[in-house]
Amino acid sequence: SLKPGFSAIANLNQVTEPAQTFDTKAIQALDTAHYLHPFTDFKDLNQKGARVMVKGDGIYIWDSEGKKILDAMSGLWCVNVGYGRNSISAAVYQQMETLPFYNSFFNTTNVPAAQLAAKLVEISPPQFSHVFFTSSGSEGNDTNLRMVRRYWDLLGYKDRHVIISRHNAYHGSTVAGASLGGMRAMHAQAGLPIPGIEHIGQPNYLESGRGMTEAEFGIKAASWLEDKILETGPEKVAAFIGEPIQGAGGVVIPPATYWPEIQRICDKYGILLIADEVICGFGRLGTWFGSERMGIRPDLMTFAKGVTSGYIPLGGVMVSDRVADILIEKGGDFNHGFTYSGHPVACAAALENIRILEQEKLIGQVANQTGPYLQQAFAQLASHPLVGFANSCGLVAGLNLVRQKAELQHDCVLFGTEQNVGMICRGYMFSQGIIMRAVGDRMIIAPPLCISVMQIDEMTGLIRSALDQTLEDLQ
Ligand code: PLP
Repeated sequence: SLKPGFSAIANLNQVTEPAQTFDTKAIQALDTAHYLHPFTDFKDLNQKGARVMVKGDGIYIWDSEGKKILDAMSGLWCVNVGYGRNSISAAVYQQMETLPFYNSFFNTTNVPAAQLAAKLVEISPPQFSHVFFTSSGSEGNDTNLRMVRRYWDLLGYKDRHVIISRHNAYHGSTVAGASLGGMRAMHAQAGLPIPGIEHIGQPNYLESGRGMTEAEFGIKAASWLEDKILETGPEKVAAFIGEPIQGAGGVVIPPATYWPEIQRICDKYGILLIADEVICGFGRLGTWFGSERMGIRPDLMTFAKGVTSGYIPLGGVMVSDRVADILIEKGGDFNHGFTYSGHPVACAAALENIRILEQEKLIGQVANQTGPYLQQAFAQLASHPLVGFANSCGLVAGLNLVRQKAELQHDCVLFGTEQNVGMICRGYMFSQGIIMRAVGDRMIIAPPLCISVMQIDEMTGLIRSALDQTLEDLQ
């Protein structure tokens, strides 16, 4: 006998029919009956029903009602080369036909994993000659924690195990990832962070930079790392971890002075620097990795998302020679890894994805054309009566909705959090046909790197209309 709700499964065939007509209600019924979504209020979703996405092409997606939407978030910051790339599906299909899976344990490898490892070394900064593969960014950050502690152990510094991170950072949702992250709402639900992880303030000029220039604030925010190192005891600090630009935290673009000062402090105390490149990697900031744009030289770099443009899950850690040499020479067995480390199909997808990024020169395009163009477009959006200020870096951007504008961003009058203005605006964005994310009252985007200048105009036009509607709603 079927469990309650299972009769609806008959409708599933509709999803795979080439005719592509969808019974939205039937799919929603299956979904709410059985699928607990990530980062979701389950009861709320059950009442509203999920939006069903069915197709993607370029920078656009379509829902089951046939609505075309400009995906200004690249899925979840990941579809860097855009949707509908047949050559990635062909590479995946071919690899599945040839060897759909083999593990990398017990001294075995597979062709795409070895080729991708070499390719990643080629495109990453010179200190990297090795990679460790995972299936996600969270697993990559778990790997970082294991690796840095192992590294210091092998060098005889058993006490050097504390990792310093930042409030409002996002480093994933596994126990170690969420602990390294600085999301209060996540820590509150599971007794996190685990021991040995400390957090300092984020380089958020709006939040903490009043009375300072941005440059001064960058130095100040970096000095919090030195304060924490001294408070903890430098002999106990293993590493500092940070996203070059905090993504999920609301596109927090640090002042230009921040990262070089962080690098100086890490060097001064000999602590490892981990750059979490899960969002910034693979061209988002107009360089292969965000670290290059920020002028830092990390010892470890987490990547995921853009490595396959999200077509197949893949993540990992680029491991510098400083760390790899010790693990290789002194380490013996490294007791860590995953069934899907170096998954041949995921690696084949990544190789083709990187080939597209290179062939279409998408990263140079972000650096020289679309990135600067988006910056101008966002500067113009800042003239909207609802926008206090707007900024961008490469193809990641944000604007803050305010009740009253002012010359200095710190003097803008903000909306009350209970007003949920960001969420209201997000609703109007969707009805205009654009996906934009709301982090409080900051509206953020990270469109596919293949977006054209004309499509940026289209995107900012949609944003402006949704802002007008939000303004009208609030009056
Ligand atoms: N690190 C950063 C900077 C991220 O933005 C994310 C995901 O958004 C992660 C880690 C976690 O990656 P995943 O969701 O693949 O585990």
